[in-house]
Amino acid sequence: MKIAQLFNSLLHKSAPLTKPDFISANSIKDAENFLQDNYGIKTNYKGITLEGANRLTTQLVFLLNNYPVKITTFSIVELNYTTYAATDTENHTIALNTLYYKDLDKLNKDINNDMKKGWHPKTTDNKGPEFILTHEYGHIIRKDKILNTPFEKQYTKIWDLAAENPTHFANTLSIYGTKDSSECFSEAFGEALHNSHPRIIAQQVMEIVEEVFK
Ligand SMILES: [Zn+2]
Repeated sequence: MKIAQLFNSLLHKSAPLTKPDFISANSIKDAENFLQDNYGIKTNYKGITLEGANRLTTQLVFLLNNYPVKITTFSIVELNYTTYAATDTENHTIALNTLYYKDLDKLNKDINNDMKKGWHPKTTDNKGPEFILTHEYGHIIRKDKILNTPFEKQYTKIWDLAAENPTHFANTLSIYGTKDSSECFSEAFGEALHNSHPRIIAQQVMEIVEEVFK
């Protein structure tokens, strides 16, 4: 093999430096293929609408481009009614619950109700289905990029201070965020990306995230 050919073949083996923008797909299959072909993510959108597939792909591509982590599988699966989604940080998989995601308007209403009750942080973009995905993605960021790194110490300070006063904490982030340090992180990340004026905990967590990915 000539040097030029060798160089060329090496170039072809490496990942493309820039990935194409995601433009709304015309079919669910195309949206699944986009994530598979450009990000190596095994995607299964069974049970949702084309609008759902396009919205989730748009949000996931935004997250992957700005806060790159490894995701192996992204799927819509039937979970029980007590949960919107499930993430396995060991295997880098995110699963969203068909029972909710089959009807985006109803899901958005459910999440708006959660927000009114303070269960989840208030968002300003009215994108409940995307907020849940961002929250799940936050779990993978914490596991891969923050836990067991010096950033965890910085984050623990925020969590410890917040956990000292649970009522104030719930009012400054969300009730669900008080559950443990992992949910606090994801709720704050979700607020930071979906509220045009994120509050103090979301701001502080986001400062760490920006530092990690700068
Ligand atoms: Zn969570």
